Amino acid sequence: MTVPLLDLKAQYASLKEELDDAVLRVSASQYFILGPEVTAMERAMEEYLEVRHALGVSSGTDALLLALMALGVGAGDEVIVPTFSFFATAGVVARLGAKPVLVDVEPDTLNIDPAAVARAITARTRAIVPVHLYGQSADMDPLMALGAEHGVPVIEDAAQAIGVRYRDGRRVGSIGTVGCFSFFPSKNLGAFGDGGLVTTNDTALYERMKIMRVHGGERRYYHSVIGGNFRLDEIQAAVLNVKLPYLDGWSAARRANAARYNALFTEMGLNDGTPSSDLGAHGIVLAPVERYAASGVEHHHIFNQYVIRAERRDDLRGWLTSRSIGNEVYYPVPFHLQECFAGLGYKHGDFPVAEKAAAEVLALPVYPELTVGQIEYVASSIAEFCREEVVKG
Ligand SMILES: *Cc1c(COP(=O)(O)O)cnc(C)c1O
Repeated sequence: MTVPLLDLKAQYASLKEELDDAVLRVSASQYFILGPEVTAMERAMEEYLEVRHALGVSSGTDALLLALMALGVGAGDEVIVPTFSFFATAGVVARLGAKPVLVDVEPDTLNIDPAAVARAITARTRAIVPVHLYGQSADMDPLMALGAEHGVPVIEDAAQAIGVRYRDGRRVGSIGTVGCFSFFPSKNLGAFGDGGLVTTNDTALYERMKIMRVHGGERRYYHSVIGGNFRLDEIQAAVLNVKLPYLDGWSAARRANAARYNALFTEMGLNDGTPSSDLGAHGIVLAPVERYAASGVEHHHIFNQYVIRAERRDDLRGWLTSRSIGNEVYYPVPFHLQECFAGLGYKHGDFPVAEKAAAEVLALPVYPELTVGQIEYVASSIAEFCREEVVKG
């Protein structure tokens, strides 16, 4: 049996006719950039994300960049980001000449630690960027309180968390000053290429981002501010318009797959109830923490990734790969240990929670179209690994 980490062909097969029609519709219109498909997508996103304004942009990275630019972040400014995320979260800060101020994450959810953010705020802090890692909301209430107290905007990196609700039921991306989303094909809602979205309830900020999306000019060739080319194309928007109505169903399927893994691991006696930051008897923690599972709010975790932790993670990777089971490490190197950030002056040991996570995390296949048989195969393969003879190699 083969279990890929992600199988986009399965999703495409289920919507082939609708998707092909949408792409051909754009082809026939010869209207390529920021046209009716983009506008329709933006209005649909405002409704879905329960936010006043949504603006389609060229990628999730550009969504973050545009948000920071529109908020005036530049040289000499500090922006607080978690040290454990996809590179873009910190990369955009450095690209603007600002300084990424890194903080550690919480041991159970691996989301930004609000207490660490409180300690990192200075007079030069211009933004706080929580990431809703793997598809679960960061703890927004204390972060919003810190932002309000210090007059600092909060930019949500919601690239992995479209449709997620925080514990009080609000959609991520509608809580902070700006929400940033990605439609990279491997996200829960993926386009046929790059794409992204910014959201905000602040109308003045929305207008500013809209102008900056196309080189900072309201009238063509007259520029009031400096923007960039952050435009979204019609084919991507047309694909998103087809897919959006299915998103909640896909996220529910991911949740069901995660629940099936959890149940199987418990059945196999591999889940010993160890808090997820401590490795249990098998040197392995299988069920990801769902912080708001008991809150009764729907979609508190949409499992863009189902991530387990293992002491002998790289051996487990090799074992799963040899059994044709897709797996990946998100992310092996925290920002403070990245070569390109050596100039920031951090060192090994500065952020122990993130460093431990980087050595232990492993994502398993959780995409919506996985079969029960595939999930059972993955779970039993891990059970085999846990048996003494495999552990001893
Ligand atoms: C994917 C991702 C991004 C960047 O999105 P792109 O569309 O690939 O540019 C940013 N932040 C996080 C957390 C992501 O997962």
